[in-house]
Amino acid sequence: MRSHLLNDLTAEHYRRSVTEGVERVADRLATTDRPFTGVTVDALAPRIDGIDLDRPLHDTTAALDELEELYLRDAVYFHHPRYLAHLNCPVVIPAVLGEAVLSAVNSSLDTWDQSAGGTLIERRLIDWTAERIGLGPAADGVFTSGGTQSNLQALLLAREEAKPEGAGWEASDTLARLRILTSEVSHFSVRKSAKLLGLSPESVVAVPVGHDRRMQTVALAHELERCTRDGLIPMAVVATAGTTDFGSIDPLPEIAELCAQYGTWMHVDAAYGCGLLVSPRRRGLLDGIERADSVTVDYHKSFFQPVSSSAVLVRDAATLRHATYHAEYLNPRSAVRERIPNQVDKSLQTTRRFDALKLWMTLRVMGAHGIGQLFDEVCDLAAEGWELLAADPRYDVVVEPQLSTLVFRYIPSAVTDPADIDRANLHARKALFASGDAVVAGTKVAGRHYLKFTLLNPETTVDDITAVLDLIAGHAEQYLGESLDRAS
Ligand SMILES: *Cc1c(COP(=O)(O)O)cnc(C)c1O
Repeated sequence: MRSHLLNDLTAEHYRRSVTEGVERVADRLATTDRPFTGVTVDALAPRIDGIDLDRPLHDTTAALDELEELYLRDAVYFHHPRYLAHLNCPVVIPAVLGEAVLSAVNSSLDTWDQSAGGTLIERRLIDWTAERIGLGPAADGVFTSGGTQSNLQALLLAREEAKPEGAGWEASDTLARLRILTSEVSHFSVRKSAKLLGLSPESVVAVPVGHDRRMQTVALAHELERCTRDGLIPMAVVATAGTTDFGSIDPLPEIAELCAQYGTWMHVDAAYGCGLLVSPRRRGLLDGIERADSVTVDYHKSFFQPVSSSAVLVRDAATLRHATYHAEYLNPRSAVRERIPNQVDKSLQTTRRFDALKLWMTLRVMGAHGIGQLFDEVCDLAAEGWELLAADPRYDVVVEPQLSTLVFRYIPSAVTDPADIDRANLHARKALFASGDAVVAGTKVAGRHYLKFTLLNPETTVDDITAVLDLIAGHAEQYLGESLDRAS
């Protein structure tokens, strides 16, 4: 069994095994003609359940053959130009190379003595990102597992900063009086974080958005005023730079102004919109982000990085102390005096992947500009898709995109019952998924079912969009035809 341990004696085995795996994936990518095979849970589950995990194959090739059947053949492929569903991006090759390196070396970024250069590379990338945002000289941050964790950590810091001087949470009703103000279309991880942070169920105040799905600052001002009047504590405003559904960017300068006025922590959730930090043509959309106290960025959404790659940035490094705990065996206090850079002092995680290496390799091979250009291309495509949809009488489209999502719904001319239209759209999405020809997402707008394209693949063309709209219309028509037949 020792032949499977990666070490000086097995370097050749490692090379052969990994190359064999890479070959399989390369063949699969080269020959995949649809984003999905349409496999069902019922078809796939017995195959996976049928594997006896206590009877190993003792053979890499056989295990890869098996994996083809269980996974590779029927996986959902984000690199395919007709995958238009969620915020998953096709990935860039330098980052995949970084992934291969980081898992083989297996640095853990909690402490310097488990990572050495890895820690310094992560720190450089945090500084680089903070500089792109414009957070100033005292900024810091840390890589996280994703936007959800970044938002949680940012709100933890905001909560601790809102604590009245010298008071414990127990001694007062302060915890119950904390409020987080965020738009009604912000990410659900804000509410989840509030729960994890022990805040009351009423703690998250949903601020209305306008037709453009951006937070209404007049409403925010009103809520801040109301909180103060009612003896509540506006602990944080969470602005979204790229909402998950609409890609809308809240008015950051006005929000920053209000936060300054009320002394409220400003968090910007740029999980989606962070790609604008490197965009040659759209950086202006993030104006005002430099005034944030904390920022979430998901490189695994708009920097074309493999999952996971994300970070939380803060304006004032000192606020990260709220996540600092010391263990004698790992990161003793003395290490701080000795200036040993132990990243665990800043993180909610302990053992932690060297995800930063993927971004490092990307910047070193392609450059930030290259990434930004790719993101600009998908935003351009969304603008063209908007034109198409707005001119197409078969579709109702919700809002002109600032980033790369399109939310729309099929509206058959002969049908007027909104419930029938809902069912037709739901059916079209499911039928499309089952066919594997394309994958689109769905969401609700004002209680009605809509469909959604999240465009993150620069290889997707206007022709792809046209073709998928025709497929959707076809499935919806077929459904309505059949259900009208049944009714008559
Ligand atoms: C995706 C997303 C998140 C959550 O990020 P994960 O990386 O999926 O945890 C948070 N906020 C916004 C706006 C998002 O789009």
